[in-house]
Amino acid sequence: MSNDGPVYPDDAPASTQLLARAREVIPGGVNSPVRAFRSVGGTPRFMERAQGPWLWDADGRRYLDLVCSWGPMILGHGHPDVRAAVLEAAEGSFSFGMPTAREVALAEEIVARVDPVEQVRLVSSGTEATMSAIRLARGATGRSVVVKFAGCYHGHVDALLASAGSGVATFGLPDSPGVPASAAGETIVLPYNDVAALEATFAERGSEIAAVITEAAAGNMGVVPPAPGFTDALRRVSAEHGALLVSDEVMTGFRCSPSGWFGLEGEPAGGAPDLFTFGKVMGGGFPAAAFGGRADLMAQLAPEGPVYQAGTLSGNPVAAAAGLATLQRCTDEVYQRLDEVSEALAAAVTDSFTRHGIPHRIQWAGSMFSVFLREGAVSSYDDAKDQDAELFGRFFHAMLRRGVHLPPSCFEAWFVSAAHDDEAVEHAVAAIEASAAEVA
Ligand SMILES: *Cc1c(COP(=O)(O)O)cnc(C)c1O
Repeated sequence: MSNDGPVYPDDAPASTQLLARAREVIPGGVNSPVRAFRSVGGTPRFMERAQGPWLWDADGRRYLDLVCSWGPMILGHGHPDVRAAVLEAAEGSFSFGMPTAREVALAEEIVARVDPVEQVRLVSSGTEATMSAIRLARGATGRSVVVKFAGCYHGHVDALLASAGSGVATFGLPDSPGVPASAAGETIVLPYNDVAALEATFAERGSEIAAVITEAAAGNMGVVPPAPGFTDALRRVSAEHGALLVSDEVMTGFRCSPSGWFGLEGEPAGGAPDLFTFGKVMGGGFPAAAFGGRADLMAQLAPEGPVYQAGTLSGNPVAAAAGLATLQRCTDEVYQRLDEVSEALAAAVTDSFTRHGIPHRIQWAGSMFSVFLREGAVSSYDDAKDQDAELFGRFFHAMLRRGVHLPPSCFEAWFVSAAHDDEAVEHAVAAIEASAAEVA
């Protein structure tokens, strides 16, 4: 095993210059906060191009990509078939604002993969998908309260940007200025994987609750899969009280398996979730997302029903082409490669961290995994927060110097692609060993 690639300096002059320029015109210089490297320190790398599993930044440095655009680049960058589909679609039109065959084909592909989903509505971001699913759930039930779980992220929807108040079953507090107390106050935040808290909350307020929304398997506090029986309990308790169950598969959908987390865990006892949300992989790197479920429920949406939902660019032909081409190429071989790559990386972490005495815990949801810098199982957000974030920052930069770009936060999954070939894996494995030795 060798790592004879260059060790880059921490200083990245071109990115530093671009960041300064960006900060003049974009808050913090970034269009999504995690990109700013605040939790690991240092200068975010401005990227110029990518191919397969590799990224090149503005200084011409090459990095192995373990972010994969936070999941969408499941086939790697610049997959020739996806590229061809995008170019062909763009030749036809960038946008019609009218229906097209392509968006029907994308909807058919999703419906074919996820059994309980009979219809989908396409939107442009995961945030829009969850926001619309919540509106539909409220419209269909005539209720307003939503239950979510601490540490689960569902996009920056007002009602879903709520933190747990003190006590288990209190109404949520706004997680951000600008979220009205009235919006957060319609949200109840419960600890993940806590069936007793769920039951107690429904016993008290069941008749007010429109929906329970959960990450199918949590990936936004690091990877925390539902404990055995948790999804069943969500289904049982919500159904008992006439509330809907919304499974947010924006991250896990089409990544954990051909049919997402649902395909791995199977249908909960008592029936499938009522609504699903998708994003990331299904857009193939373009802005496309969706929410869907039973046809009778989806019929509540305009123009069939009274619940309004719309989008100028929804079902955009270029995005739909990228998403469809990506999903069509997500074959069994692709999922097998994701498993192999993830297992090789996780084994390297276990091996090197153990050798160098770094406490760690790896957790999985299918091929999706993350590394917690702590010992012991993580089953809730409180557990996830109890790790060595400072050590992660040092490890992150040790990896970056060795040409591996991890997600810049210890609360994120490591994303791989089917284009991560043996050379990519060897590069990562060598960097993990050298970085672990450095930071231990
Ligand atoms: C990324 C994500 C979202 C938000 O999607 P955007 O496209 O960033 O708006 C929602 N839910 C989950 C589970 C996600 O991982």
